[in-house]
Amino acid sequence: NAPEPFLVVENVEAVYGQAILALRGVSLTLGEGGVVALLGANGAGKSTTLKAISNLIRAERGQVSQGTIRWRGRDILGRDPSALVSDGLVQVLEGRHVFPQLTVEQNLITGAYVRGLSKLRIADDLERIYAWFPRLKARRQSRAGLTSGGEQQMVAIGRALMTRPTLVLLDEPSMGLAPLIVEEIFEIVRQLNRDSGVSFLLAEQNANLALRYADHAYVLETGRVVASGAASELARRDEIKNIYLGGG
Ligand code: ATP
Repeated sequence: NAPEPFLVVENVEAVYGQAILALRGVSLTLGEGGVVALLGANGAGKSTTLKAISNLIRAERGQVSQGTIRWRGRDILGRDPSALVSDGLVQVLEGRHVFPQLTVEQNLITGAYVRGLSKLRIADDLERIYAWFPRLKARRQSRAGLTSGGEQQMVAIGRALMTRPTLVLLDEPSMGLAPLIVEEIFEIVRQLNRDSGVSFLLAEQNANLALRYADHAYVLETGRVVASGAASELARRDEIKNIYLGGG
């Protein structure tokens, strides 16, 4: 028997409130150590898929109304989001939610609290994060709210990494950022994945970009998966090119 994939989302329907059906039966899998991209236009259901997995959907009066979500062979549907973080599943929300008044370093340290580590181990982990994000090391004493958008995205990712995750759900990392810094962030994510084996499920509207960094991708449209495959293969498909890659 083949081992069960790391993350399995099966036929998930999700609703907000009573009436808004945001996911209409989404299925996807992610192998351990993989980078998988969720592509699609605004409102297609990318964020909702991530929030269904992390159960942060609950905070928005949403819920999974059908389907199953298994992670490392266990049913995680409806589990407490903070318990999931302690187990190694963390979401980086869209829009870089940093604590603006805290320094970059203080923001990173908040990520370590869930694990209740000693100061020494936190210092070790900080150095690890700084090795991946040299920009953050240079800005460690700056107030996060005064750093650039790209740096704030790095803080958000770095803070998630401080929880020592094995799976990171990354929502729209390129949102509102200049192309160069976005490339830098994706390079770091890819390198992190290679060096540390952390798996990434990332929602991204910029398909062109995401397909260059992901192993595998799913395309969502109005709450359904309409295409999926190896990233390199999807990038060559004409209908994907026409709709999501701006022709060419
Ligand atoms: P975006 O890039 O805009 O975040 P997305 O692909 O991530 O797009 P979702 O945010 O998952 O899409 O939205 C899917 C559907 O669910 C949309 O119709 C959206 O209007 C609706 N929706 C999302 N969040 C909520 C919410 N908190 N309450 C009600 N409806 C919501």
